[in-house]
Amino acid sequence: MKRILPLFLILSLLLSSCGAKPDGESGKVKVYTTFYAMQGFAKAVAQDKADVVSIVPVGTEPHEFEPTAADIAKISKADMFIYNGYGMDDWAKDVAETLPKSVKVVCASVKSDPYIGDPHVWLSYAGAAGELQNICSAFSEIDKTNEQYYNDNYTSYMEKIDNLGAEYREAGLAGKKLFVTHGAYAYMCNDWGMEQIALEGISGESDPSPAQMAQFVDEIKQSGAKAVFYDPLEGDKIAKAAAKEAGIEALELYTFEGDSEGRDYITIMQRNLEQLKKGLN
Ligand SMILES: [Zn+2]
Repeated sequence: MKRILPLFLILSLLLSSCGAKPDGESGKVKVYTTFYAMQGFAKAVAQDKADVVSIVPVGTEPHEFEPTAADIAKISKADMFIYNGYGMDDWAKDVAETLPKSVKVVCASVKSDPYIGDPHVWLSYAGAAGELQNICSAFSEIDKTNEQYYNDNYTSYMEKIDNLGAEYREAGLAGKKLFVTHGAYAYMCNDWGMEQIALEGISGESDPSPAQMAQFVDEIKQSGAKAVFYDPLEGDKIAKAAAKEAGIEALELYTFEGDSEGRDYITIMQRNLEQLKKGLN
């Protein structure tokens, strides 16, 4: 006997398939992010409900990145596209203008920690919280059925960040001078009362001149600092040269702009705290 589906069921099936999100191949929300930090935050919120891919390849420094036509074609087929803003990934704004309306565009730094002339806002407590909140809202908006799931993930991730914040607060970082090659830690320094002294600018785009290097090494010697910090993503050449000149060591301090080991924000920030405790005078 032939079964005939009741009309209301057919209608509801049709309606649900029309507005269906997620619509990725795997049935998951398909998300592209500009670079690793945004991918990390999106994964923390969406977990197994989304496929989250970073356009900037792992191991590539994101500041000078330019997308290819193939990158843009991929993003245009996504459900969501997440970028940081604050000058970190300006190419995303141009790409966003060309995307079909089906792609939800999220600038994660909107209403996060106010801009202080440094794009690395996710390295501050308020910045990370704000970006995770924005990303959580975006997932809830395009995938309403899983709203509770996203909110729960956000809440439990924020608990971990709160605990981490307590560890940073108790580490006695206030008043310390942080000598770095890539000037990426203004937010981190603001949070914990440190002073950043950077050899290169915010994006670490060019090598320092011999005069800049000499001045940097002088300041290190005067301060009695124990380490120069650098992100392995930019390489250790300049940091090691400065450290050698000053007779101290060079230590890794991650920006979370990329990580060859695929670690998450909490793991990276925990590691950073260990390094700060080890290398700050
Ligand atoms: Zn950077």
